[in-house]
Amino acid sequence: MQKIGLAGFLHETNTFSITPTPLENFLNQSGFYPRLLKGQEVFELSKGKYNIAASGFMADADKYGFEIIPLMWAGAEPSQPLKTVDFEYLMKLIEEMIRENEPYDGLFLDLHGAMVFGELQDGEEEILRRVRVIVGEIPIVVSLDLHGNISERSFELASVMVGYRTYPHIDGFENGQRCAAVMNYLFSGKTLFRAFRQSPFLMPATTQPTTKEPAQSLYALLPEMDKTGGMISATIMEGFNACDLPHTGPSVFTYAESQAQADESVDFLIKEILGREAQFSVEMYSPEEALVKALQIAETTDKPIILVDVQDNAGGGSPSDTVWLLEELVKKKIDRAVIGVIWDPQAAATAHHAGVGTKVQIALGGHTLPGHKPFEAEYLIEQLHDGDFLGTGPMVKGRTLNLGKMAQLRLDGIRIVVSTDRMQALDQSLFRVVGIESSEMKILVLKSANHYRADFGPISGGIINVDAPSAIIEDPSKIAYTRLREGVRLKGLGPVFKHPVSK
Ligand SMILES: [Zn+2]
Repeated sequence: MQKIGLAGFLHETNTFSITPTPLENFLNQSGFYPRLLKGQEVFELSKGKYNIAASGFMADADKYGFEIIPLMWAGAEPSQPLKTVDFEYLMKLIEEMIRENEPYDGLFLDLHGAMVFGELQDGEEEILRRVRVIVGEIPIVVSLDLHGNISERSFELASVMVGYRTYPHIDGFENGQRCAAVMNYLFSGKTLFRAFRQSPFLMPATTQPTTKEPAQSLYALLPEMDKTGGMISATIMEGFNACDLPHTGPSVFTYAESQAQADESVDFLIKEILGREAQFSVEMYSPEEALVKALQIAETTDKPIILVDVQDNAGGGSPSDTVWLLEELVKKKIDRAVIGVIWDPQAAATAHHAGVGTKVQIALGGHTLPGHKPFEAEYLIEQLHDGDFLGTGPMVKGRTLNLGKMAQLRLDGIRIVVSTDRMQALDQSLFRVVGIESSEMKILVLKSANHYRADFGPISGGIINVDAPSAIIEDPSKIAYTRLREGVRLKGLGPVFKHPVSK
């Protein structure tokens, strides 16, 4: 039996976000992520086939003869950098647990790859540096979300890093299984060779889904590569742009039985990325243009048209409370439209206090973004919900979700889904729980970038990306970076980044 310590510590940090990251977000359920699990509680993640890498890793433990020592698992919805004191609190839990159960044959870490804490310090680098100090030169295998911004230092500290291959992310479980297979390989005693490269350009989020080009055929290369003799692991990270660090952006890493093979495969993948560069550009429409376009498409189909509020995506660290698109829906008096999820704890509380069937004046949303304002109106309280519900789509199937008090508010034909906790609209259950059947709508306004595609994609008759302001800037050439590495192109064939001082 090989003794493997298992820990998870996940956050995608938007360093431009206006939404704080309280420690409570890690202690309690936060959006997509379960509550903090300590010690034996981590085994809760092995009770089902959850879309979480730790779940997949534990599922294959018996197959490889691993004895899992559960240490700690914590994650929170994307937002600002963690305060140093909170990072230290969670890091100490991991370090203490590691020390209590020493020694190990290997360590498995379920990380995101884009965590930032304190004064723009890289979270994963610090996690890896600290655990390496304790456990020494044993295998450390790391699972990463495909949105990791990976520094060369992190890459060197880990024995092997393995990234998700789908966006929407539906292979968290499988990624854990890939990590278990790699861990097993590392115990064979063979030498492993590695290569790491950064992409010379950033990929705007709306170009990143692996369900369509250009990323679809790119990611299809990876399973082919797996079949090549001598290849151990290959990863393409698309990176998370809302992060002001030198190594922000896509990276590629490969592991093989010879240095030549690791180098050749990493260069091949970079060449394939470069061959698609022109397709990594931005196409978005103003709220007004988008709605006109959506109504035209709606004439040709019975399926709902999705307007994607990409820049107000809670899953990228935005507040998820802007009302630009609500204003537009009201102006055009749209029938059978829904917008959500709007994060507004006060509005949710007011709705619950007033009760179903009543009409109440609410200053809805618009509380966070400077210069923005709420949409004041008399809303009909159509339906309420408080507490747990079950995820149903590919990303959260079988998982218990909880966004606190929720409400469906109505303004004539327009339905608004309001929540107390922030979460992006990645699953139809978030609307169904307050009585909305998405497939019966004409227009769906979703606060998400791409994850909605997993569950809402199959029912939609068209998808339009909307350019409405929030804490995410979809076009990286418009982001006010100060610390990004010089020379990187800010999107496909985009302008080259220079530090503001050297401009
Ligand atoms: Zn991601």
